[in-house]
Amino acid sequence: MDDLLKGISNFREAVFPDNSALYQKLAREGQKPQALIISCADSRVMPETITQSGPGELFVCRNAGNIVPPFQTMNGGVSSAIEYAVIALGVRDIIVCGHSDCGAMKGLCHPELLAPMPNVAAWLKHSHAAHSIVCEAYPPTLEDKEKIRAVAMENVVVQLDHLRTHPSVAAKLAKGEVTLHGWFFDIETGSVLIYDGAASRFTELEDGQPLAVAVSGRDVPQVIPFRRKNGAERAALNV
Ligand SMILES: [Zn+2]
Repeated sequence: MDDLLKGISNFREAVFPDNSALYQKLAREGQKPQALIISCADSRVMPETITQSGPGELFVCRNAGNIVPPFQTMNGGVSSAIEYAVIALGVRDIIVCGHSDCGAMKGLCHPELLAPMPNVAAWLKHSHAAHSIVCEAYPPTLEDKEKIRAVAMENVVVQLDHLRTHPSVAAKLAKGEVTLHGWFFDIETGSVLIYDGAASRFTELEDGQPLAVAVSGRDVPQVIPFRRKNGAERAALNV
């Protein structure tokens, strides 16, 4: 605890003075973060550090396993953070960020570890699909470490699917106003893998290359093929 208290002192005396104008601007004008990131609560996975973001730049929601409960199955913090970020703050990008060596994913692969933690076990039910995918569709010869990594990556994709069940996200996707991203942070190497939704795989983030995305609002098909850009289009379709 002493280290944390020293950190507060250091922030107040050495860091804040150099950034006071920024903090005062943010206090005066409010926040306008460019993205919502849902990442694991793991102490080694720090979204602001990974993306080199400063105050006011990222709206962060962290929990065990970077989980997004499907809409309505749980009325809780994650759902509220999503709604607030999308509707009140108008973020245009939502990132689900998984990571290597994830304790939550280990728990999924070894349920006996969850016996003394009934809340964690219940929470991780939102990731069971990822575990089932790896158990049934991946080679049975995977070593434990490889299996946990595969579950962590599939879990990012499962949580991206859950994101789309949230009405606020679904509506913004249909309007082409939000983009969904799946990332995977490798603790050991510091690299961030990016989920390419079109290719259904994670790829290395390379300088100068266009960023692969999981789901682009522009690509979301609509049952009735018109966009709500103006009233005339609607009227022409007589709907
Ligand atoms: Zn984790």
